Amino acid sequence: DFSFLRTFMILLLSFVTIRINLCSPGIPYSLRSLSLEGNLVYDELHYAARDFGNRFHFPPLAILHPNSVSDIASTIRHIWQLGPTSALTVAARGHGHSLQGQAQAHRGIVINMKSLRGPQMQVHSGEFPFVDVSGGELWINILQESLKYGLAPKSWTDYLHLTVGGTLSNAGISGQAFRHGPQISNVHQLEVVTGKGEVVNCSLNQNTELFHSVLGGLGQFGIITQARISLEPAPQMVKWIRVLYSDFSTFSSDQERLISMENTFDYIEGFVIINRTGLLNNWRSSFNLQDPVQASKFNSDGRTLFCLELAKYFDPEKTGINQEIERLLSQLRYISSTLFISEVSYLDFLDRVHVSEIKLRSKGLWEVPHPWLNLLIPKSKIDIFAKEVFGNILTDTSNGPVLIYPVNKSKWDNRTSVVIPDEDIFYLVAFLSSAVPSSTGTDGLEHILTQNKRILDFCETANLGVKQYLPHYTTQEEWQAHYGPLWEVIIKRKSAYDPLAILAPGQRIFQKAI
Ligand code: FAD
Repeated sequence: DFSFLRTFMILLLSFVTIRINLCSPGIPYSLRSLSLEGNLVYDELHYAARDFGNRFHFPPLAILHPNSVSDIASTIRHIWQLGPTSALTVAARGHGHSLQGQAQAHRGIVINMKSLRGPQMQVHSGEFPFVDVSGGELWINILQESLKYGLAPKSWTDYLHLTVGGTLSNAGISGQAFRHGPQISNVHQLEVVTGKGEVVNCSLNQNTELFHSVLGGLGQFGIITQARISLEPAPQMVKWIRVLYSDFSTFSSDQERLISMENTFDYIEGFVIINRTGLLNNWRSSFNLQDPVQASKFNSDGRTLFCLELAKYFDPEKTGINQEIERLLSQLRYISSTLFISEVSYLDFLDRVHVSEIKLRSKGLWEVPHPWLNLLIPKSKIDIFAKEVFGNILTDTSNGPVLIYPVNKSKWDNRTSVVIPDEDIFYLVAFLSSAVPSSTGTDGLEHILTQNKRILDFCETANLGVKQYLPHYTTQEEWQAHYGPLWEVIIKRKSAYDPLAILAPGQRIFQKAI
């Protein structure tokens, strides 16, 4: 008789469910019994307490896997209605590529934004093309979908396996930002769920204050559930170029010159090479030396070098690309024997970091601690910064790439919530270190953190006007100093859109008052 077995199974299941619910006493019954299209789960929580930084682990009480915007809105509305009697907070989690627990909610609710991938992405061609995407969509998927229409977003990050909501909450900077501005300068419209659980559409013409608040807003003012991203005709192929400098001032003044020109490269970045041996041999697999004989006389060993990285997009059907590149390169002062050129598809160029990810994963080197430090440095102070940091602090090794490139401030909208230095040109300097787990040497976490602190202390003492990108602070005083004159605006925005401080507690800017 199977009916006995069925009754037994049902009883067992109810018992397990009741136990799970009892195991999460911080989640009120009224919330647990909300009617949702997706689901609120109380187990398998460990993934929401992890991020790319791999240093901070704050487990939530539950994870919401939303199926619709209304799942997100009704959950937050419910917590808002509970008022200050409840300590519950909510963090949207995009792809969890934060560094210090920013997408975590200790004993709160984490919303897995990737489960909100629907409705279907909509690419709109025409004179001003755009795509409507979910806030949990990965940039790589947006690229692949828009390429089907011969289109692509204009501004990128170096790595595409990040979500729209995650990068728009920061800025989204890469080698195209000098021309198009960061990703937050290339969004027409957003759909946002505020900290009161309201679903609001906002743009430059509608609910403008919310639109500006959320862009670069570190998740403090609302959860981005949809975004309308500006597109352009997609290039087909890319000439990808690297040249070396041994003198920092020559390197940076060439970079600044290039980003100020009308007819220039399409992508301009750079990185620092510290104490590397066999450099040219390592690159040969993907980059061709223009003049191998000359280059063989160049010895990189041990010196600090600066690599200018450039890209020019082109259509293989058209001629003239090589002459154009020659014309541009002839204006630069790099070490002439160190010209490397490679030719790749636009997709491969943009998705280049994913290739390294696959390699690192296969060696177990991706899920290690990442004590990254990202700084925005005013142009007038970049020489002083480079002299101390590359001449004194980082001399032996860098434990990972060190990116350095300038952008034009005129391409940033000063009404958004992002904090940038107050100069027409400023540099992004990114120390993208990986630590060897449990090492106590120069490749260990403690050593790298100490080095980061030396860099930050130097910026502070020398009064360089540096701002952190992907900022991390632990006290409100530090946040206040970070925001400077914008702090009053941030307070106003918080009290308008998330007055109970329910959202993005992992940024540690505001604390929920209970
Ligand atoms: P998460 O880590 O999930 O979230 C980040 C923050 O945004 C959290 O506070 C979270 O609560 C909030 N958030 C997430 N989704 C939403 C949403 N829908 N609405 C509101 N708030 C939300 N950045 C650059 O600018 N340029 C680069 O070139 C670049 N390269 C990178 C390369 C790698 C390998 C990595 C790991 C990071 C890189 N970043 C870069 C940083 C990256 O842009 C940020 O860490 C970004 O936040 C990651 O997106 P995510 O989807 O993983 O966000």
